[in-house]
Amino acid sequence: MKIDRVVVHPLSLPLAQPLKTSIHDIRSVDTVLVEMQASGGAVGLGYCFAFGPRRARALQALVEDLAPIYEGAEATATRALFDRAWRSLNFLGHAGVAVMALCALDTACWDLAAQSANLPLWRFLGAERNRVPAYASSGLWLHRSIDELVAEARRFVAAGHRAMKMRLGKTRAGEDLERARALREALGPDVKLLADVNQGWDEATAIRTGRALEEIGLFWLEEPLPYEDLEGAARVAAALDTPIASGETEYGWVGMKRYLDARAADILMPDLQRMGGVTGYLRAVDLCDAYHTPVSSHLFVEVSGHVVAAASHATLLEHMDWWQELFDDRLAVVDGHVVLPDRPGIGVGLDRKALARFRA
Ligand SMILES: [Mg+2]
Repeated sequence: MKIDRVVVHPLSLPLAQPLKTSIHDIRSVDTVLVEMQASGGAVGLGYCFAFGPRRARALQALVEDLAPIYEGAEATATRALFDRAWRSLNFLGHAGVAVMALCALDTACWDLAAQSANLPLWRFLGAERNRVPAYASSGLWLHRSIDELVAEARRFVAAGHRAMKMRLGKTRAGEDLERARALREALGPDVKLLADVNQGWDEATAIRTGRALEEIGLFWLEEPLPYEDLEGAARVAAALDTPIASGETEYGWVGMKRYLDARAADILMPDLQRMGGVTGYLRAVDLCDAYHTPVSSHLFVEVSGHVVAAASHATLLEHMDWWQELFDDRLAVVDGHVVLPDRPGIGVGLDRKALARFRA
């Protein structure tokens, strides 16, 4: 299967509800979607995104710059093409928009490669299972009242979820704990509750508040400190019984190695676009295995689900619904598991009407 052409779609997807964390106040997800067209009419899909239309235009420029590496190449040459693109980015650096742009192309290429084998991507990657334990992430934001949090948590359970993530980082002392208690009480002991600080604390706050939160039995406490403070994160991880999850903001598998070497987290959650796509994500996953560290995901559930399915040391998959409107099929959530499609490739097709509706 030969890649004929890369078509780039700049899109802006409005969020059903604004995203508010300790560092975000966001209304739309500015997305660059790659449609990789191959001989025989097959189409591979990949995407990357930024918050802000001008930033997304920078992403788009990098996607268009890298596209000729893929055009005319064999779709099964996923790793070779990735390595060529990666080397070509040496001067710009292996972080930021360049790596995110590569993600969209690399993902679309893997989609095509799996299609050429007539296999869903999870099978193509060697997975045995098409059901991956997941947690609901599209909610429980920081601006919600306690009543709203509880109502939303109940909606997640009704939708089939058995795990969900709240956000922490309220300014009034004790408020985070109050909110977590209310959720734990409403959910009971059998639903997993996760909490994300989005880098909002310093080390002393993380240890103090983390200790107070131990009674909640959080499944994990995420990004307590600024992402680059690896030594601080390692001290927090050592001080708390609650597992620390981190890594979504770091770039590349070498970045993941820095986290692992520093013991900065108990669980690593590589972000697909900061890994440069499926190729880099697979390398990060194998590194985590070498360090006996469970691995999770960040966003991109349509793609990450396949990689997580193939990792026997994976823990929960993040289920975020931001892009589902773009596709002709939604991933089912059954009894706390995301069910991956049986169609070849990543297994979701483009909804052309949505494409027109969200055009930036
Ligand atoms: Mg996070």
